[in-house]
Amino acid sequence: MSHLGNWLWNGLRALPDLLYVPKCAFCATRMPPGSKTPLCPICRTRYEDEKEATCPACGGRMSDCLCTPPDLPSCGVHRMVKLFRYLPASDEVSAQMIYHLKHKNLITLQRFLADELAKPLSGLVEQPEEWVITYPPRSVSAKRRDGFDHAAALAKALAKGLGCAYLPTLVREGHAGIEQKRLSRTARLTAAKENYTVRQGLFLGGKRVVLVDDVMTTGATLVASARLLRKAGAKEVVFAVLALTPSKKSYRE
Ligand SMILES: [Zn+2]
Ligand SMILES: [Zn+2]
Repeated sequence: MSHLGNWLWNGLRALPDLLYVPKCAFCATRMPPGSKTPLCPICRTRYEDEKEATCPACGGRMSDCLCTPPDLPSCGVHRMVKLFRYLPASDEVSAQMIYHLKHKNLITLQRFLADELAKPLSGLVEQPEEWVITYPPRSVSAKRRDGFDHAAALAKALAKGLGCAYLPTLVREGHAGIEQKRLSRTARLTAAKENYTVRQGLFLGGKRVVLVDDVMTTGATLVASARLLRKAGAKEVVFAVLALTPSKKSYRE
């Protein structure tokens, strides 16, 4: 190859790296091309510290146990994976990751968070063919705004990581318009019940289900969804969320 040819060839080979510069999902530091993690080493350490949060039910490390929150309404779910507390608008690395997860379709972040959920789940999901991974769909307006459903993306990545089937099971009626976060707990439970239905013809006979979401606040959405999935024949439903929003009642700081 001529000198000019070499120069051109090297330039072309470097193009993908020049076009795509991975940045830390928290501090936006530039990271080496091809980085598989969404966090730089400093933010990664901070994130690991945030995962030391205390479980509101057993007092152990939240990311190690399978407790459900003590005030969760009954829905036949007794096991739950959760990784950290959600303190929105805080300067916590995990809160920022959830923000990015909701609003940007970043595959590296989705894979990283799905792998984080897969670690505690892998002990539970011994026979992947018995399990399906599903999610409560976002509101039609939120999906339209961001162009994707982050819970669906997380569920898909988790299913791949665990070797289970990914199965959309629920549909969300578009009548909402009311923002969930403005509603009281009771109103949320009612709204959630009215909002979700199972897909037509869905039968989960004998299957175990992992229901994935980013954050559990009152639990209304997950509880309503779990009841529907059990009605559709699920043998067991397990919750897997990235974070719990601390409530005064159930949390010790
Ligand atoms: Zn960083
Ligand atoms: Zn616990």
